[in-house]
Amino acid sequence: MRRLDPSVDVASDGPATCPYCGSEETTREHPRGPSLCKSIHYCNSCEESFEKMG
Ligand SMILES: [Zn+2]
Repeated sequence: MRRLDPSVDVASDGPATCPYCGSEETTREHPRGPSLCKSIHYCNSCEESFEKMG
């Protein structure tokens, strides 16, 4: 039975807030790894990437 890949679901929790500058101009990246409870985001404002626990 096929299941949808949960890592491609970007609409579940809205934009993440950057912990460095507080901007919501962030994009979610898609790590292909075992840690599905954690997502990688990239801040377009200060150009830092950060992790967020899902
Ligand atoms: Zn930032």
